[in-house]
Amino acid sequence: MNTMKVINVTKPFELSINDIPNYEIEKDDDVIIKVQYGGICGSDIGIYTGANSLAKYPIIIGHEFVGRVEKVGQAVKHVKVGDFVVSDIVNSCGHCYACRTGHHNVCKNLNVTGVHVNGGFAEYAKVRSENVYFVDTDKISEKTACLIEPYAVGVEINTRADVKAGDKVVVFGSGPAGLAAMQVAVARGAEVLITDVFDERLALAREMGATNAINVKEHSLHEAVAAFTENEGAHVVIDAVCSPQSILDALDIVAPSGRFVVLGTGATPSEIPQVAFTKKGINVFGTRLNNKRFPEVIELFEQGKVTPEKMITHTCKFTDIEKAFDVIKNEKNTVCKVLLEW
Ligand SMILES: [Zn+2]
Ligand SMILES: [Zn+2]
Repeated sequence: MNTMKVINVTKPFELSINDIPNYEIEKDDDVIIKVQYGGICGSDIGIYTGANSLAKYPIIIGHEFVGRVEKVGQAVKHVKVGDFVVSDIVNSCGHCYACRTGHHNVCKNLNVTGVHVNGGFAEYAKVRSENVYFVDTDKISEKTACLIEPYAVGVEINTRADVKAGDKVVVFGSGPAGLAAMQVAVARGAEVLITDVFDERLALAREMGATNAINVKEHSLHEAVAAFTENEGAHVVIDAVCSPQSILDALDIVAPSGRFVVLGTGATPSEIPQVAFTKKGINVFGTRLNNKRFPEVIELFEQGKVTPEKMITHTCKFTDIEKAFDVIKNEKNTVCKVLLEW
């Protein structure tokens, strides 16, 4: 029997590279992808360390991946064997309240590829055809295509908060999620102040188009936001730091009637007085994954409105995933997106 290598997290801090039988087409809408690149996300590390409260074990991780179509079920018409593709990771049921109202990313019966069902850190991935999008490699490089999923999260964030031209947006954190959200906001005509605690990451954020980038270890966030917004407060706050404290900081700097987007998946509570929401009439948006935003991202990439390639700082062999995790942990100031290569 033919086998393939997969990256399996059996429980927190237990990762192995196993051989399992090759996938076969079982359903008419199955697509099997021969994986070429995968992007490591903070949430993969969260599954590895047990910090992602939404994860299930054991699991083949990986939800940012691209490759060539290897096999398709007979109902699959929009892509063919050999096409270069990216896969969305939201597998929704289509009939619950969230799905009926068009919010597939928070489906009550949601299965996320690489979190609840086996993902793309493997020689092959099997996904459903409605999640598969063709990528024209003349317009988007194979490596850059790995960033489509994280930018889809960025589009979702901006869509949730209805970010538009003239908005003054504050993004906490200059990691991949913060940078993607920032670039999408800038592409929509907003001005963005982004924060971090590492100067190297802030330099990258500036290079990628942030209006302002401040080190909150050295400068007062409150004062920087006051100067940036002429004392109005932030029209939109996007929290990509996701700590118990960052929620409190966001509520502090958001403008009256402003919008606050929460991204964290941690389970550690924050102690928040109710008046923090009511006094300023704050609109809070929980956002998760993306709701069919891949086509919009592919357009942004093709038109050059964002520069995802600038995020790719490292590429490792997929068998070196534990080394890649160490790089992400130990070189926080200079690492941004680490790709695995098959
Ligand atoms: Zn991710
Ligand atoms: Zn549903």
